[in-house]
Amino acid sequence: MIHQILKETFGYDQFRPMQEEVIEHILDKKDALVIMPTGGGKSLCYQIPALAQDGLTVVVSPLIALMEDQVASLVQNGVQAAALNSAMNADEQRMIYHKIQTKELKLLYVSPERINNDRFYEFLRSIDLSFFAIDEAHCVSMWGNDFRSDYVELKKLKSEFPDVPVLALTATADAATREDIVKQLAILDSKLFLGSFERHNIYLRSMPAKDRVKYITRFIFNQQQGSGIIYCLSRKGTESMAAKLQAAGINAGFYHAGMNRVDRSRVQRNFQNDQLQVICATIAFGMGIDKPNIRFVVHYNMPKNIESYYQEIGRAGRDGYESATVLFSNYNDYLQLKSFIDGSDASATFQQVQNAKLDRMWEYASSYECRTNFILNYFGEYRQKPCGRCDNCKQPPRKFDGTVIAQKALSAVARSGQQFSMDLIVNTLRGSGSREVIQRGLNKIKTYGAGRDLGYLDWKSYITQLINQGALMVDFSQQNAIKLTPFSKEILKAQQKVELVEFTLDKGKKVVNKPKVARVEDALFEILREWRNQIASQKRIPAYTVLNNLTLEELSKSKPTELEELMEISGIGQTKLNKYGHTIIELIKKYIVDNQSTSAKKGATHLITYELYKEGLSPKEIAEKRDMQETTVFSHLAQLYNHGKEVDLAQYVSKPKLDTIKMAWLELGKPETLKELKAELGNDYHYGEIRIGITVAKKEETLF
Ligand code: ADP
Repeated sequence: MIHQILKETFGYDQFRPMQEEVIEHILDKKDALVIMPTGGGKSLCYQIPALAQDGLTVVVSPLIALMEDQVASLVQNGVQAAALNSAMNADEQRMIYHKIQTKELKLLYVSPERINNDRFYEFLRSIDLSFFAIDEAHCVSMWGNDFRSDYVELKKLKSEFPDVPVLALTATADAATREDIVKQLAILDSKLFLGSFERHNIYLRSMPAKDRVKYITRFIFNQQQGSGIIYCLSRKGTESMAAKLQAAGINAGFYHAGMNRVDRSRVQRNFQNDQLQVICATIAFGMGIDKPNIRFVVHYNMPKNIESYYQEIGRAGRDGYESATVLFSNYNDYLQLKSFIDGSDASATFQQVQNAKLDRMWEYASSYECRTNFILNYFGEYRQKPCGRCDNCKQPPRKFDGTVIAQKALSAVARSGQQFSMDLIVNTLRGSGSREVIQRGLNKIKTYGAGRDLGYLDWKSYITQLINQGALMVDFSQQNAIKLTPFSKEILKAQQKVELVEFTLDKGKKVVNKPKVARVEDALFEILREWRNQIASQKRIPAYTVLNNLTLEELSKSKPTELEELMEISGIGQTKLNKYGHTIIELIKKYIVDNQSTSAKKGATHLITYELYKEGLSPKEIAEKRDMQETTVFSHLAQLYNHGKEVDLAQYVSKPKLDTIKMAWLELGKPETLKELKAELGNDYHYGEIRIGITVAKKEETLF
């Protein structure tokens, strides 16, 4: 049943890791907490059990924009879903309530403030409720980074509706936050589903904040029009960044909380619909973004903790294609973020936690170890094997004996009385004639100028490494003065050697990690994309909810010309097939006719499959080679067989299976599409086998 919903409603063949287990658990009427990285596929975890049950599923979501996009997407797939929001008039609301009472509506999205009220509870008590899904559940916890007071009230759901399961979902949760979510939502017996946080298609890179605009401009030019986000710390920063990119001829816009609603949603829509390539934004641009084809995320400044960072970069590559990230950071970012925390009104404990998280972020930015592992370890998923795709894995840092460098730095700190900030220590070592150095008499100490041979950034890197190794410390209570530690003394007395990692800006200069985006640049893709965008703008919904780019690419590669072949394309379920199937087929056929001479030269797509088949490749190998679904290859083989080519179809389906398929086909009255047969035959039969079964059965009919 749930496989059928996956295929028919959403157009997908297989569940992603953990989705099936979560769905079964909810159908068993039990509570759960699901932690999956952004893009992992959390939505289906509640959408499918909602469709598999009779009652109404209530989804709590923090943002109206997010709810609207989800609803638009569901409606496109033929699902009865709606969002209640305060902007609706009484009639619209009545209509929704009516649809709930008549059991037409399967999913209702509401904001937390909406659900937390006695009248609404009363209404919920009067209907058949399947379960509550709480999206972005980390908002309930103070330990998370998006705490919302309205979420705290959600605790009542369990006491008001003890028999209704609660499914909490989030992409962000360290162990402390996890425990807190369970406690805050009173789902103490819930099962934890902890997905791997590894995102195999995301490339991590961190570099010192130098020549950022130049680097970013070049980096974007290398992205071949792929869209991306540049996160900046301040509102002003987003505007000036966008202006600089525009001046370089890049189609960029900006987004921040200081803009009015109309402007914000215009920019967001343009970005969602691929009309704006790059968006320079503060973190206000975030939770509502559900765009699958974001190819890069750049942090112009360092985020305040690993959770925020991972959530922000997680917006890249939801479609599974390779995507790049770049994190710029410098010590001043760190100090600035720290001063925000220390200057806030929050309690001392809260400040302490936030500071500890910031420290880890800074360690990450300046780390020389595998970055993926750093993050996985942070989220409690301990792993040793390097990922092989972050900057540190690709260009392993060179270590050297840095004892002398360390001694110079430590001695400068000691001789200047352990009272100056990193900048002043570096300037002293480099023999700078700056006013501050002279005024404070630092030009008179013995180590003044002892480090002239190294650059400013080199020294900053080495001192940071020494801090991270515990050879120096920062005293935040004394204007961030750098001080000695017990370990420093051993180094100064030459009892301890120090290993440092060579600092090189080369890493920053080369634009590596250019994602190999499997983008189909062909004319058919553009035709389909244009048609898709037109539909989206007529309906005023995001383009990807009509059909996403991945689906368009698959269509332009396999060029199906029959309706039932369309059903095999990932992302096309029954509703989309009914709604758009004929138009898509018409567009593809027209394209083939218009380009007959070229396609004849290249060979029609099923003929290419035939060539590979004759070379002895299996359907799986052909699918891999041609980067298409295996079911598409089966449908090519069936087509070739029908055209009288010598294709031995029987080898792909066992005799008993073939007989069962043929029997079912006859019993069901020879249906034209595969859907009914698939429902009849169940999961032991994949679409490719069924297609072959029908082809053979039809052929036999004409023969006898
Ligand atoms: P999350 O909420 O965890 O960030 P989404 O639920 O938005 O992720 O899913 C990310 C993308 O992956 C969406 O485009 C969704 O349609 C797609 N997706 C989810 N599950 C599957 C699946 N089983 N097969 C193919 N695509 C899937």
